[in-house]
Amino acid sequence: MTQLSPVGRPLRPQHKVLQEDARRHHRALILQQLFSDGPASRADLARATALTRVTVSDLVGEMIRDELLEELGAPAHDPAQSRVGKPPTLVGFVPEAAHIVCLDLSVEDTMTGAVTNLAGTVLSRRSVDTRGATGPDALALVHRLAADLVAEATRPVLGVGVGTPGVVDTEGTVLDAPNLGWQDVHLARSLHEALGLPVFVANDANTAALAEHTFGHAGEGGLMLVRVGKGVGAGLILGGQLLHGHRAAAGEIGHVVIDPAGTTCACGRVGCLETVLGVPRLRQRLEHDGPEALGRVGELLGTVLAPVVGTLNLHELVLSGPTDLLDGPLREATAATIRRNTMAVSGDHLVVRTSTLGEDVVLVGAAALVLAGELGVS
Ligand SMILES: [Zn+2]
Repeated sequence: MTQLSPVGRPLRPQHKVLQEDARRHHRALILQQLFSDGPASRADLARATALTRVTVSDLVGEMIRDELLEELGAPAHDPAQSRVGKPPTLVGFVPEAAHIVCLDLSVEDTMTGAVTNLAGTVLSRRSVDTRGATGPDALALVHRLAADLVAEATRPVLGVGVGTPGVVDTEGTVLDAPNLGWQDVHLARSLHEALGLPVFVANDANTAALAEHTFGHAGEGGLMLVRVGKGVGAGLILGGQLLHGHRAAAGEIGHVVIDPAGTTCACGRVGCLETVLGVPRLRQRLEHDGPEALGRVGELLGTVLAPVVGTLNLHELVLSGPTDLLDGPLREATAATIRRNTMAVSGDHLVVRTSTLGEDVVLVGAAALVLAGELGVS
């Protein structure tokens, strides 16, 4: 059963391979093309994927029978183009072919879940007040929420995706999530055993980064998403893959010390990034010192991220969190500082923006986890 997270292998099919799983891979190539660029003819698909027309016709036929694709008829007649013969029939991806159950466990005291279609559109949602539940109690709430959502889906469920705080390994085990009181909780395995569905679990910042990659019109270059909530974390997509790191903790920048003369952090260190960039602290500063204070935080963030941008030659830096705090002096100062502190080749083409996916970024990213894991589409 598929329980592997899409981490560690390309999120998108990269090229044609000749292996036992070639058929699945070729299906993914076709699906990715239709998912990214919209309806196409079989001939266009063959050109775009470098598969033979026979292979494309065969796989498209199979996916139409599976109701994952549909025939859309001929494209609208273009009078400027006088074609001889029958115009080609287009085929398209069917977003309603299946539903996905998504959970966001990253918000304090609330667990949110949704049923989405394959395009990541939220069809229904539910949330639970956790009343501070931790450990097995919190796990039981996750199970109930997931089961309720599976029951709510009106199409076959492709899988369950979960964005959770904490450090999560590639098997979907939550190694450490202090807020939920979880250590070595086999979240993917226990949900899979209870629901009989493929389950994919990732850290909330990684999930949000994947959401931007799949649904946020992100470019093909490297992307770093910095998630700003009560805590601070980051997710990185490099070379079309979610970066996991040696001990599954890539992107854990919230507890990196940036201001040794600053305030004591919940983790015991002094001056962690979280003590400067966490939402409660930003609100405080805005109230006390006005918007200029947010600019100063941006300078600090830019100073911290410039070496990362320079090292990885990132294309996009996405800030995700309350836009009233992030989109303005903070974002502008972050961008300006990075450009000042890096070579033109690193800084000039860097896009620094806020997430377009709003509060649903983790939910939608959980859907993207399932799409990548089950269909090879991102
Ligand atoms: Zn800390």
